[in-house]
Amino acid sequence: MESMDVFADERAVELLDKLQSSDRIVLTAHRGPDGDAVGSTLALWNHFKEHGIVSTVVLPDPYPEFIHWMNGHDEIILHSDQPELAEKLVKEAEVLFVQDYNDPSRVGDLQNALEKTEAFTVMIDHHQKPTDFVDLMFSDDKSCSTCEMIYRLIERWGEASKLSINTASCIYCGIMTDSGSFRFPSVSPKTHQIVAALIETGMDHSKIHSRVYDSSREGKLKLIGYALSEKLQVFPKFHAAIISLSAAELERFGYQKGDTEGLVNTALSIEGVNFAAFIHESKDRIKMSFRSVGDFSARDFSANHFGGGGHHNAAGGASTDSLEQVVARVIDLLPNYASDLDYPAP
Ligand code: 5GP
Ligand code: MN
Repeated sequence: MESMDVFADERAVELLDKLQSSDRIVLTAHRGPDGDAVGSTLALWNHFKEHGIVSTVVLPDPYPEFIHWMNGHDEIILHSDQPELAEKLVKEAEVLFVQDYNDPSRVGDLQNALEKTEAFTVMIDHHQKPTDFVDLMFSDDKSCSTCEMIYRLIERWGEASKLSINTASCIYCGIMTDSGSFRFPSVSPKTHQIVAALIETGMDHSKIHSRVYDSSREGKLKLIGYALSEKLQVFPKFHAAIISLSAAELERFGYQKGDTEGLVNTALSIEGVNFAAFIHESKDRIKMSFRSVGDFSARDFSANHFGGGGHHNAAGGASTDSLEQVVARVIDLLPNYASDLDYPAP
């Protein structure tokens, strides 16, 4: 079924008028930015720039090497590098975009500035259950990515035919990474129509795949090999699998951001497994990634037990408990879901 078009609202068009007369436009995305977070903010940044609108992308912390090719990435302000400047930009913005997240807690140390901002705030996001903290909300949990929504907004502005290769490449990357390379159930005919339009700009889709998926470090592959051979726990009775990695284990392989991206999906690919968790130790917290196939809601699991969130089949959360405690907690919870997880592969 076609989801309701959130951009049918007249305010989507009025927003463009507002942007054309604003000086301080700031684009933000969630902490631990991924292809969709960086792609969606830089897509708008590039598109605005080409249309004479000046904006600044402000992100909480660094993003993986494999997206360092996007045009404008070297102009991104990271809060982790320049906290004062990042906070000033957010607080004093005239229009502030909230992209690929739907709750202020998702921007880490930028949260305080976000809550104090004087800006007119606009959310463009595809996660479930948004918190209503913005002035204008475009939330569509049927959309496979925020980047897909960015294309639809540009289309609503009547500017889709003017899309540049730079903008199209950012949008393509976000759609590709958030849709598991066009395989998740959230991919729709519209997704493919958008991708067709992106490729028609002349952008090099094959090169983007190579940059994202074929740029592994040797240490990354060895880390994945270690995680799969030594750290994968499978619970056939509960249709679940868990991988955990401590900070010391990550360090041993020279861990870099993005190295473990997709590892949780490898655990989920085991036949009979309907729920997978990847749990790892980072600087100040334990980070969890949850994935499911079919009816079991990874989002509800994360929200109910770890205060996390995300999508039905892909969610995450964080904890200040120890790695051992978090892993034990997830394992202890599995028997409660034995019947919910007991179904044949969809
Ligand atoms: P990932 O496992 O790839 O980090 O995240 C999967 C999905 O869950 C993403 O859409 C992400 O935005 C969301 N997510 C990840 N971590 C958290 C978290 O700590 N809190 C919330 N609310 N969502 C999260
Ligand atoms: Mn996303």
